Amino acid sequence: MDVRKIKGAAGTADRLPELTGKSRISVLLWDVDGTLLDFKAAELSALMSLFEEFSLGACTEEMVRRYSQINDGYWQRLERNEITKPQVLLGRFEEFFREIGVPGELAPEFNQRYQLRLGDTIVFRDDSYELVKSLRGKVRQYVVSNGTVAAQSKKLRLSGFGELMDGVFLSEEIGAEKPNKAFFDAVFEAIRPASPSEVMIVGDSLTSDMKGGIDAGIITCWYDPDRKPVPPEYAIDHVIFDLHEVVSIIEGILRKDIVWRKK
Ligand SMILES: [Mg+2]
Repeated sequence: MDVRKIKGAAGTADRLPELTGKSRISVLLWDVDGTLLDFKAAELSALMSLFEEFSLGACTEEMVRRYSQINDGYWQRLERNEITKPQVLLGRFEEFFREIGVPGELAPEFNQRYQLRLGDTIVFRDDSYELVKSLRGKVRQYVVSNGTVAAQSKKLRLSGFGELMDGVFLSEEIGAEKPNKAFFDAVFEAIRPASPSEVMIVGDSLTSDMKGGIDAGIITCWYDPDRKPVPPEYAIDHVIFDLHEVVSIIEGILRKDIVWRKK
Protein backbone atom coordinates (compact mmCIF):
# COMPACT_ATOMS: atom_id res chain seq x y z
CA MET A 1 0.00 0.00 0.00
CA ASP A 2 1.13 3.49 -0.78
CA VAL A 3 0.39 6.07 1.92
CA ARG A 4 1.47 9.64 1.36
CA LYS A 5 0.69 13.12 2.46
CA ILE A 6 0.40 16.17 0.34
CA LYS A 7 0.53 19.47 2.06
CA GLY A 8 -1.47 22.58 1.42
CA ALA A 9 -0.40 26.09 2.35
CA ALA A 10 -0.77 25.50 6.08
CA GLY A 11 -0.47 21.77 5.90
CA THR A 12 1.50 20.82 8.97
CA ALA A 13 0.07 19.08 11.98
CA ASP A 14 1.93 21.33 14.44
CA ARG A 15 0.13 24.34 13.04
CA LEU A 16 -3.31 22.95 13.74
CA PRO A 17 -5.31 25.62 15.53
CA GLU A 18 -6.87 24.65 18.86
CA LEU A 19 -10.60 24.87 19.27
CA THR A 20 -11.40 27.21 22.13
CA GLY A 21 -14.82 28.78 21.90
CA LYS A 22 -18.26 27.28 21.73
CA SER A 23 -19.32 26.71 18.17
CA ARG A 24 -22.72 26.74 16.56
CA ILE A 25 -21.49 24.06 14.15
CA SER A 26 -21.73 20.70 15.86
CA VAL A 27 -21.78 18.33 12.89
CA LEU A 28 -19.35 18.06 9.97
CA LEU A 29 -20.18 16.09 6.85
CA TRP A 30 -16.96 15.24 5.03
CA ASP A 31 -16.64 14.33 1.38
CA VAL A 32 -13.81 11.83 0.80
CA ASP A 33 -12.51 11.83 -2.77
CA GLY A 34 -10.74 15.08 -3.62
CA THR A 35 -11.38 16.42 -0.10
CA LEU A 36 -9.96 14.26 2.72
CA LEU A 37 -8.04 12.10 0.25
CA ASP A 38 -6.32 12.92 -3.02
CA PHE A 39 -8.38 11.12 -5.60
CA LYS A 40 -6.24 11.89 -8.66
CA ALA A 41 -3.18 10.17 -7.14
CA ALA A 42 -5.20 7.02 -6.38
CA GLU A 43 -6.81 7.06 -9.82
CA LEU A 44 -3.45 7.39 -11.61
CA SER A 45 -1.77 4.60 -9.71
CA ALA A 46 -4.81 2.27 -9.89
CA LEU A 47 -5.11 2.67 -13.67
CA MET A 48 -1.41 2.25 -14.33
CA SER A 49 -1.09 -0.90 -12.24
CA LEU A 50 -4.23 -2.45 -13.76
CA PHE A 51 -3.04 -1.78 -17.30
CA GLU A 52 -0.02 -3.85 -16.42
CA GLU A 53 -2.07 -6.57 -14.75
CA PHE A 54 -4.43 -6.84 -17.74
CA SER A 55 -1.50 -6.63 -20.22
CA LEU A 56 -3.00 -3.60 -21.96
CA GLY A 57 0.32 -1.98 -22.75
CA ALA A 58 1.53 1.32 -21.41
CA CYS A 59 -0.96 3.67 -19.75
CA THR A 60 0.31 7.18 -20.35
CA GLU A 61 -0.53 10.20 -18.21
CA GLU A 62 -2.35 11.58 -21.24
CA MET A 63 -4.57 8.48 -21.29
CA VAL A 64 -5.27 8.86 -17.57
CA ARG A 65 -6.25 12.51 -18.17
CA ARG A 66 -8.63 11.44 -20.91
CA TYR A 67 -10.12 8.69 -18.73
CA SER A 68 -10.53 11.17 -15.91
CA GLN A 69 -12.44 13.52 -18.22
CA ILE A 70 -14.75 10.73 -19.35
CA ASN A 71 -15.21 9.58 -15.74
CA ASP A 72 -16.11 13.08 -14.51
CA GLY A 73 -18.74 13.36 -17.24
CA TYR A 74 -20.37 10.09 -16.16
CA TRP A 75 -20.44 11.09 -12.46
CA GLN A 76 -22.04 14.43 -13.35
CA ARG A 77 -24.74 12.62 -15.31
CA LEU A 78 -25.34 10.43 -12.25
CA GLU A 79 -25.67 13.54 -10.05
CA ARG A 80 -28.31 14.82 -12.48
CA ASN A 81 -30.06 11.42 -12.20
CA GLU A 82 -29.66 10.82 -15.93
CA ILE A 83 -27.96 7.45 -15.49
CA THR A 84 -27.51 4.82 -12.77
CA LYS A 85 -24.41 3.97 -10.75
CA PRO A 86 -23.75 0.67 -12.65
CA GLN A 87 -23.98 2.65 -15.90
CA VAL A 88 -21.32 5.03 -14.56
CA LEU A 89 -18.98 2.29 -13.41
CA LEU A 90 -19.09 0.33 -16.66
CA GLY A 91 -19.90 3.07 -19.17
CA ARG A 92 -16.80 5.14 -18.36
CA PHE A 93 -14.48 2.20 -18.99
CA GLU A 94 -16.38 1.03 -22.09
CA GLU A 95 -16.09 4.52 -23.61
CA PHE A 96 -12.45 4.89 -22.59
CA PHE A 97 -11.56 1.42 -23.89
CA ARG A 98 -13.32 2.17 -27.20
CA GLU A 99 -11.14 5.25 -27.65
CA ILE A 100 -7.89 3.41 -27.01
CA GLY A 101 -8.80 0.20 -28.87
CA VAL A 102 -9.32 -2.14 -25.91
CA PRO A 103 -12.27 -4.63 -26.04
CA GLY A 104 -15.25 -3.24 -24.09
CA GLU A 105 -16.06 -6.71 -22.68
CA LEU A 106 -13.17 -6.20 -20.31
CA ALA A 107 -14.99 -3.36 -18.52
CA PRO A 108 -16.86 -5.35 -15.81
CA GLU A 109 -13.81 -7.26 -14.60
CA PHE A 110 -11.56 -4.23 -14.93
CA ASN A 111 -13.98 -2.11 -12.90
CA GLN A 112 -14.24 -4.72 -10.17
CA ARG A 113 -10.46 -4.81 -9.77
CA TYR A 114 -10.30 -1.02 -10.04
CA GLN A 115 -12.66 -0.45 -7.08
CA LEU A 116 -10.31 -2.32 -4.78
CA ARG A 117 -7.14 -0.96 -6.34
CA LEU A 118 -8.36 2.61 -5.68
CA GLY A 119 -7.99 1.91 -1.97
CA ASP A 120 -4.33 0.93 -2.34
CA THR A 121 -3.12 4.51 -2.68
CA ILE A 122 -3.93 6.70 0.30
CA VAL A 123 -2.78 10.30 -0.10
CA PHE A 124 -4.03 12.68 2.59
CA ARG A 125 -4.85 16.26 1.64
CA ASP A 126 -3.62 19.03 3.96
CA ASP A 127 -2.87 16.57 6.78
CA SER A 128 -6.54 15.73 6.80
CA TYR A 129 -6.01 12.77 9.13
CA GLU A 130 -4.56 14.93 11.92
CA LEU A 131 -7.24 17.54 11.31
CA VAL A 132 -10.13 15.08 11.65
CA LYS A 133 -8.42 13.52 14.67
CA SER A 134 -8.04 16.92 16.34
CA LEU A 135 -11.74 17.65 15.87
CA ARG A 136 -12.85 14.30 17.28
CA GLY A 137 -15.03 14.75 20.34
CA LYS A 138 -15.42 18.48 19.60
CA VAL A 139 -17.83 18.06 16.71
CA ARG A 140 -19.55 14.99 15.32
CA GLN A 141 -17.97 13.97 12.02
CA TYR A 142 -19.45 11.82 9.27
CA VAL A 143 -18.36 10.71 5.84
CA VAL A 144 -20.80 11.46 3.02
CA SER A 145 -19.69 9.87 -0.24
CA ASN A 146 -20.99 8.78 -3.63
CA GLY A 147 -18.05 6.39 -4.05
CA THR A 148 -18.69 2.65 -4.18
CA VAL A 149 -18.92 0.60 -0.99
CA ALA A 150 -16.04 -1.59 -2.20
CA ALA A 151 -13.68 1.34 -2.80
CA GLN A 152 -14.69 3.53 0.13
CA SER A 153 -14.72 0.77 2.76
CA LYS A 154 -11.14 -0.12 1.92
CA LYS A 155 -10.02 3.53 1.78
CA LEU A 156 -11.65 4.38 5.10
CA ARG A 157 -10.15 1.34 6.78
CA LEU A 158 -6.61 1.81 5.47
CA SER A 159 -6.55 5.59 5.92
CA GLY A 160 -7.80 5.32 9.51
CA PHE A 161 -10.74 7.66 8.82
CA GLY A 162 -13.22 4.86 9.40
CA GLU A 163 -12.25 4.72 13.09
CA LEU A 164 -12.14 8.48 13.54
CA MET A 165 -15.58 9.18 12.12
CA ASP A 166 -18.83 9.03 14.07
CA GLY A 167 -20.43 7.39 11.05
CA VAL A 168 -20.19 6.76 7.32
CA PHE A 169 -22.90 7.43 4.76
CA LEU A 170 -22.36 5.91 1.32
CA SER A 171 -24.88 6.63 -1.44
CA GLU A 172 -24.80 3.01 -2.58
CA GLU A 173 -26.07 1.91 0.85
CA ILE A 174 -28.56 4.77 1.18
CA GLY A 175 -29.99 4.27 -2.31
CA ALA A 176 -29.64 7.92 -3.36
CA GLU A 177 -26.69 10.01 -4.50
CA LYS A 178 -25.54 13.45 -3.41
CA PRO A 179 -26.88 16.06 -4.27
CA ASN A 180 -30.35 14.46 -4.02
CA LYS A 181 -32.47 15.49 -1.06
CA ALA A 182 -33.19 11.81 -0.35
CA PHE A 183 -29.49 11.31 0.46
CA PHE A 184 -29.44 14.16 2.97
CA ASP A 185 -32.83 13.18 4.42
CA ALA A 186 -31.39 9.75 5.20
CA VAL A 187 -28.32 11.33 6.82
CA PHE A 188 -30.46 13.65 8.99
CA GLU A 189 -32.74 10.78 9.93
CA ALA A 190 -29.71 8.93 11.28
CA ILE A 191 -27.78 11.77 12.96
CA ARG A 192 -30.76 13.87 14.08
CA PRO A 193 -29.12 17.29 14.36
CA ALA A 194 -30.97 19.84 16.50
CA SER A 195 -31.11 22.10 13.45
CA PRO A 196 -29.75 22.04 9.87
CA SER A 197 -27.94 25.29 10.71
CA GLU A 198 -25.52 23.42 12.97
CA VAL A 199 -24.46 21.05 10.18
CA MET A 200 -21.72 21.91 7.70
CA ILE A 201 -20.71 19.94 4.61
CA VAL A 202 -17.12 20.18 3.41
CA GLY A 203 -16.45 19.01 -0.14
CA ASP A 204 -14.68 19.71 -3.40
CA SER A 205 -17.64 19.17 -5.71
CA LEU A 206 -19.96 22.02 -6.61
CA THR A 207 -22.49 19.76 -8.30
CA SER A 208 -22.79 17.14 -5.54
CA ASP A 209 -21.51 18.53 -2.20
CA MET A 210 -22.39 22.21 -2.56
CA LYS A 211 -25.62 21.81 -4.47
CA GLY A 212 -26.71 19.06 -2.08
CA GLY A 213 -25.80 21.13 0.97
CA ILE A 214 -27.55 24.24 -0.32
CA ASP A 215 -30.71 22.28 -1.19
CA ALA A 216 -30.64 20.59 2.23
CA GLY A 217 -30.42 23.98 3.96
CA ILE A 218 -27.14 23.28 5.78
CA ILE A 219 -23.94 25.33 5.92
CA THR A 220 -21.76 24.79 2.87
CA CYS A 221 -17.98 24.86 2.74
CA TRP A 222 -16.37 24.48 -0.68
CA TYR A 223 -12.86 23.05 -0.62
CA ASP A 224 -11.26 24.81 -3.55
CA PRO A 225 -7.50 24.07 -3.47
CA ASP A 226 -7.11 25.05 -7.13
CA ARG A 227 -8.60 28.47 -6.34
CA LYS A 228 -11.22 28.33 -9.05
CA PRO A 229 -13.75 31.16 -9.06
CA VAL A 230 -17.09 30.47 -7.38
CA PRO A 231 -19.82 30.28 -10.01
CA PRO A 232 -22.41 32.95 -9.15
CA GLU A 233 -25.31 30.49 -9.23
CA TYR A 234 -23.93 28.77 -6.10
CA ALA A 235 -24.76 30.52 -2.82
CA ILE A 236 -21.90 28.90 -0.90
CA ASP A 237 -21.31 29.96 2.72
CA HIS A 238 -17.56 29.40 2.93
CA VAL A 239 -14.82 28.85 0.37
CA ILE A 240 -11.53 27.43 1.66
CA PHE A 241 -8.20 26.79 -0.04
CA ASP A 242 -6.85 24.60 2.77
CA LEU A 243 -8.76 22.15 5.00
CA HIS A 244 -7.31 23.73 8.17
CA GLU A 245 -9.60 26.70 7.56
CA VAL A 246 -12.48 24.47 8.67
CA VAL A 247 -11.36 24.96 12.27
CA SER A 248 -11.61 28.76 11.97
CA ILE A 249 -15.08 28.44 10.51
CA ILE A 250 -16.22 26.14 13.32
CA GLU A 251 -14.85 28.58 15.85
CA GLY A 252 -16.57 31.46 14.11
CA ILE A 253 -13.23 33.16 13.63
CA LEU A 254 -13.45 34.01 9.99
CA ARG A 255 -10.34 35.55 8.70
CA LYS A 256 -10.76 38.64 6.60
CA ASP A 257 -9.93 36.87 3.36
CA ILE A 258 -12.52 34.17 4.04
CA VAL A 259 -15.18 36.78 4.67
CA TRP A 260 -14.10 38.54 1.53
CA ARG A 261 -14.44 35.37 -0.48
CA LYS A 262 -17.76 34.56 1.09
CA LYS A 263 -20.64 35.31 -1.24
MG1 LIG B 1 -15.17 14.84 -3.91
